[in-house]
Amino acid sequence: MATVFIALGSNLGDRSANLAAAIGRLGDLGLVTRVSPVYETEPWGITAQPRFLNQVVELQTDLPPHTLLRHLKAIETAMGREMAGPRYGPRSIDLDILFYDDLVLTSYTLTVPHPRLCERAFVLVPLADLAADRVHPRLGLTVRELLARVDRSGVQRFNVQTFSSNASTL
Ligand code: ADP
Ligand code: MG
Repeated sequence: MATVFIALGSNLGDRSANLAAAIGRLGDLGLVTRVSPVYETEPWGITAQPRFLNQVVELQTDLPPHTLLRHLKAIETAMGREMAGPRYGPRSIDLDILFYDDLVLTSYTLTVPHPRLCERAFVLVPLADLAADRVHPRLGLTVRELLARVDRSGVQRFNVQTFSSNASTL
């Protein structure tokens, strides 16, 4: 059984619902053991697009890395991601493998740890909520140390509206 950290991002449609639906589908690939808070973040790369919601989950799975990636891409496709769209462009759901145990892997389709993890505050902030002391197996720095090196000003806590929080205002 491997411990995997997966980043989720959505900036199209009902973003909260997209995150929740994707987490539900990740449950088919193993056991989702922990879920970070949700953050709203400024878009990265192409900046003229809607703001993202970002979240990180911990998944325990028996799937090997490339098989897991194939399943993540299938979930993205099933959830209507426009596959012809530009890289870093709008998407209903983006699923990235951040860490897979302490594996270090570079192949044509998959790089683990995720190659842009250390420059993305929108990934490091929710990842630090779950695994601040985890050591990046290639860089030898903890998630907390990586987070201290980036500008996190564009990453804000997002309060997901739930039925119970609405009900409490009645
Ligand atoms: P990004 O996630 O950086 O915004 P994309 O979602 O468009 O960009 O990813 C493009 C490709 O990156 C995927 O098709 C996948 O093959 C590749 N890739 C390489 N490493 C990873 C990883 N660790 N997790 C997810 N995808 C990865
Ligand atoms: Mg991706």
